[in-house]
Amino acid sequence: MLKDIKIVIDLDNTLLDSHKLWESLGEDMEKLGVSKELWKEARARESARIKEAEEKGDYLQLYSIENIIDFLKEKLGSRFDFLFVFYHFLPRFAGLLNDSKEDCLFPDSKAFLEKHKKEIILLSFGNGVVQLSKILTTRLNRYLDPDRIFITKKEKWQFFSENWKADRGNFPPKFMIDDCPRNLRLIKEHNPSVITICIRRPEVYVDENIHRRSINFVVKSLTEVEEIVK
Ligand SMILES: [Mg+2]
Repeated sequence: MLKDIKIVIDLDNTLLDSHKLWESLGEDMEKLGVSKELWKEARARESARIKEAEEKGDYLQLYSIENIIDFLKEKLGSRFDFLFVFYHFLPRFAGLLNDSKEDCLFPDSKAFLEKHKKEIILLSFGNGVVQLSKILTTRLNRYLDPDRIFITKKEKWQFFSENWKADRGNFPPKFMIDDCPRNLRLIKEHNPSVITICIRRPEVYVDENIHRRSINFVVKSLTEVEEIVK
């Protein structure tokens, strides 16, 4: 199956405007007793943590809802934990409510997936429940079959190398699209034949220059990617 795969694509800040998604959840959080200010503060702290780690050059790219919830738990009390939040959010996240968060996808995402349906897979890093929830609530599952969705807590380069090595009969996909320069650098180091494409959406945290030698292309949109993968 993987011999047909040409493109591996990232979810957060590549297909999905994750900042916008979390922002849009503010109203729901208010119903759980989280003020707009506190929700903003919790997310800002998490962004700052990632930025700091990335500047040190040693971070694992993950905007963690668990960290955000832990912070809120400190402020609001122990009942406010991961299960509590997801108990209230899962119906929405699972697409069971009518108001999807489809508008949090970048404008060119759906067309890109549609066009490359047969040759693309999604590789997302993070908590499986959270990542799958994002996929469902934005209706991305309409564009990706379940066997084309991979969510891992391992670093992407590790997952990539373990699953898509030529000596295991699965030839590495040709293109890797991600907003995280560090992911691309590490994938390239371990799989030199992969063409790495760094997509710079809004709300990005780091200058790609430190990883530049391992990145083949830097683009601003998936429309630009079309020129490269065609
Ligand atoms: Mg990303």
